[in-house]
Order: sequence, then C-alpha cells, then structure tokens
Amino acid sequence: MPSVLVVEDDPSIRQSLIEVLTEHGHVVRSTGDGFGALREVTRARVDAVVLDLGLPDLDGAEALRMIRGISSVPVLVATARDDEAEIINLLNAGADDYLVKPFSGGQLIARLSAVLRRTGQLPGAAGSAGIGAAPTSDPLHPVLVGELAVDPGARTAHLAGRELRLTRREFDLLAFLAHHCGHVVSKRRLLTEVWREPYVDDQTVDVHLSSLRRKLGESAASPRYLLTVRGVGIKLVAPR
Ligand code: CA
Repeated sequence: MPSVLVVEDDPSIRQSLIEVLTEHGHVVRSTGDGFGALREVTRARVDAVVLDLGLPDLDGAEALRMIRGISSVPVLVATARDDEAEIINLLNAGADDYLVKPFSGGQLIARLSAVLRRTGQLPGAAGSAGIGAAPTSDPLHPVLVGELAVDPGARTAHLAGRELRLTRREFDLLAFLAHHCGHVVSKRRLLTEVWREPYVDDQTVDVHLSSLRRKLGESAASPRYLLTVRGVGIKLVAPR
C-alpha cells in the first residue's frame, strides 16, 4: 500500500484528505507544517507527498525545495492560487503535479495515482524513485538538524521557521558544520576550509562561533546545537 504524507495546516482540510486517501487504500501520515514534512520525509518511508503551499512556518515553495534536497519522493502541491506563473515555478522547482483548491477527492486520487504510476510506486510498476534516499554528499544540499534548517544553495538558515541573519563568514561556518553534522571538526580544519587561510589565529574561529551561538540562542556554557569537544574541535548536533 502506498504511504502518502499529507502536509496541511488546516485541520478540517487535513482530516478530509486523510479520509479520502485512507478510503482509497493509502497509508496516510500527516503534519501541519513544513519542518514536520521534512522530518517525516527524512524519517519514514513516504511514497508521495501532498503539500499545501500556505504553511505557517515555511513558504510552500521553500518546503518543496528543501524536500527536493533530501528526497526524490513525488510531490503534489495543493495551491489556493490559480496563478499560472506560480504553478510553472513550482513544477520547475520539482513538483510532480498540482491541484488548485478547492479540489474534489476524485481529482486528488486520480492525480496521485498518475504520479505514483509514473514514478513506479504503484504495485506492479517497475523502478523506484529513490524514496528516503540519504542526504547526498553535495555540500549545496539543504540540511535539517533539529529545528535548524540550512540551505547552502539559497544561503539561508532558519531556526524553528525564523530566518537567521548571519554574516557571510557565519553562514559559511554554519554550512560547513551542517554538512559535517554529527562529526567533530577541528578549528584547524575550519580555518583551512572555511577561512581558507591556515595562518589565521584560532581565536578568529572562536569569535565567529560565539556570535553564531548567540544567534542560535545559545552560549558555550549552555550549548544546544554547537558542541565543543575539548581539545578536538566543534560539532553541530540536534539538541537533546
Ligand atoms: Ca494552509
């Protein structure tokens, strides 16, 4: 049975989507915001996503881009706006198809089945869309760590849906740590790979780390995302 993730913040619309999909034999998971969607796509097997574009935390188009950064799962966008330019943008950004609200259950099922057939997710169909693929080693791929989302391609970082205002160097530092998330990186390596100036003093790194910490709402004394491993370096982790 295909597993479908419904991303919709309106509880009554969400409920009716869940009912229609369940009636048609889909296993349904649901979430009300963009970060929830990213978490589900990362964590569970999802064969298709029905993505509302008006979400409380992330702009739907941005959520789509971030999903595309970590998975090739088919995405059907549901938009209230019948705006051709926007729809073309969404299709270019990686949406597989779209629905303009209000849409019928019949239309949803038909479009979803077509998308699942195309991507080989319906029983009997060949191939795989590479669902749940691990993040690639491409340093430009978006990374989600706890509630922190770093998108090196767009050069944006959001914490719990709020965009962080970072200097160029702070962003480079955060993006490098995000790309090596969970692994300790030495200050020497940061100087070589972020600053590209191996003769700069270690204190330069400390100064930038401390301002990055402040923007992440933490300090060296009570860290959440940026953990210092004494004598070794620093690592970015999801807060416990
Ligand atoms: Ca909405």
